[in-house]
Amino acid sequence: MKAIVVGGGIGGLATAVSLRRVGWEVQVLERAAEFGEVGAGIGVMPNALRALEWMGVADEARRLGTSRVSGGIKASEGRWLAHLPEVGQEKIIAMHRADLHGVLLRALPPEILFNNVEVRSVQELDADLVVAADGINSRLRAELLPDAPGPVYAGATAWRGVAPGPFDLPISQTLGPGGEAGILPLADGRVCWYVSTVAPAHADLDPAELFAGWHEPIPTLMATTPDILRHDIYELPLLPTFVSGRVVLLGDAAHAMVPYMGQGACMALEDAVTLAAVDGDPARYDAARRPRAQAVWKASRMAGKFGIEVRSPLALAVRNFALRAMPGQVAVRGMTRFSAWQVPAMPR
Ligand SMILES: Cc1cc2nc3c(=O)[nH]c(=O)nc-3n(C[C@H](O)[C@H](O)[C@H](O)COP(=O)(O)OP(=O)(O)OC[C@H]3O[C@@H](n4cnc5c(N)ncnc54)[C@H](O)[C@@H]3O)c2cc1C
Repeated sequence: MKAIVVGGGIGGLATAVSLRRVGWEVQVLERAAEFGEVGAGIGVMPNALRALEWMGVADEARRLGTSRVSGGIKASEGRWLAHLPEVGQEKIIAMHRADLHGVLLRALPPEILFNNVEVRSVQELDADLVVAADGINSRLRAELLPDAPGPVYAGATAWRGVAPGPFDLPISQTLGPGGEAGILPLADGRVCWYVSTVAPAHADLDPAELFAGWHEPIPTLMATTPDILRHDIYELPLLPTFVSGRVVLLGDAAHAMVPYMGQGACMALEDAVTLAAVDGDPARYDAARRPRAQAVWKASRMAGKFGIEVRSPLALAVRNFALRAMPGQVAVRGMTRFSAWQVPAMPR
C-alpha cells in the first residue's frame, strides 16, 4: 500500500514514520525548499511522548529536550498560583521545535522526502492513501471540503523566541491581565519562551512594552533574544469530517487550535500514530480522531477564556484566588488532563 503525505511539518513527518512502521510505502511532498521548522519551543506532553515512543524516537527526543516536573502557574507579579504535582506526574519534555522536527526527519530515509513540491490538487496524486498534513491554510482541505469555513482570527497575538541564557528555570506559565507567558527551559541552558496578548489582528504592538511590568525573567528573556517571531493566532472552526474518499486531514489541516493548552502539535503526533493503528482506513481514523482532537480544541478555547481573556482586576483576583485555593492536581488540570492518552492497538 502506498501513501503520499502532503506537508513535511511535524505532523507530516510523524505520519511518514508511523505508516512505514506498519508496512506502508510512503512519500512526503513539501513545498518549501528545505525540510525544516522555524519557531521556538514546544512542550511534548506525556500523551505525545507515548506517540514518539511507539515511533521509536522518544529516546532521542529526551536526549535533546529537558524533562521537568517542577514548575506550575504564576501570576504576573511572580507569585506561584499552582504547582505541578511532583508525585505521580509524568514528565513534560521541553524541546526546540527544530529539534523535534529533526528527530522525525532523521527517522526517515532521504529518498522518500521531496522538497520544492507544491501540491495543487489531490487529482495530481496517485496513491492508495493521501494524507493532507499541509497546515492550517490547507489547500487540500479547501479542495475537498469547499463548504467548510477557513481559519478565523482568534483575537490574540503571540511572540516567541529562544533566549541564549544560560538560565536554570522551572517550566512555568504566567497569567496576567489580558495576556499570558510561558517558559520552557532547554537542556543546554537556553530558554524557549512565548508571550501572548488579546489584540486585534495585525495590531502594531511592542511586546517589550506590554510585558515590561511582568515578573522576571520574562522581560530579561525578551530583551536578550536576538530573533523574536510574531504570530497572530488563528483557529480552524470544527470540521464535520477529517476525511474525504482516500484523503485524510491531519494536524493543523484538520484541527488547528488556539495554543493555550500546548497540545496542537501533540495532537498531530497522536493523529499520525492512530492513522497507523487503523492501517490507513479513513473511516476508522475519523471515528478515532475527530472526537478527541475536537475535545482538545474546545478545551484549549476554554483555557483561553480562563486565561488570556481575563482582564478586569476583579475577574483576575477571583481567578487567581480560585487557582491558589485548589489542590495542585486540579489547578494544573488544564495542563495535564489530556495526557492520559495511550497508543491504540496496532495492526499485526
Ligand atoms: C503561538 C503558537 C504556539 C504553539 N505552541 C505549541 C506548543 O507548545 N505545543 C504544541 O503541541 N503545539 C503548539 N502549537 C501548535 C503547533 O505549532 C501546530 O499544531 C503544529 O506545528 C502543526 O503541525 P502540522 O505539521 O500539522 O502543520 P505545519 O507545521 O503548518 O506544517 C505544514 C507543512 O505543509 C507544507 N505545505 C503547505 N501547503 C503545501 C502544499 N500545497 N504542498 C506541499 N507542502 C505544503 C508547509 O510548508 C509546512 O511545512 C503552537 C502554535 C502557535 C501558533
